[in-house]
Amino acid sequence: MIVKEFCMYCGECAGVCPHNLIEVRENSLKFNDKDCKICKICIQACPVKALKSEE
Ligand code: SF4
Ligand code: SF4
Repeated sequence: MIVKEFCMYCGECAGVCPHNLIEVRENSLKFNDKDCKICKICIQACPVKALKSEE
């Protein structure tokens, strides 16, 4: 998952991931990519479209 620079770390994406793979830190997002199901729910949930899938 690619996080664009305008991410505001609101936590919206972390809240919707069905597998709890997103960790929001102060100035970064940590994705547990290994277990990501590429369902893209997090991408759709982002209010500023800051997430992009690598696939
Ligand atoms: S929902 Fe979007 S703006 Fe909010 S933390 Fe996730 S990627 Fe960043
Ligand atoms: S694509 Fe789906 S499984 Fe992967 S981090 Fe986003 S919400 Fe979670």
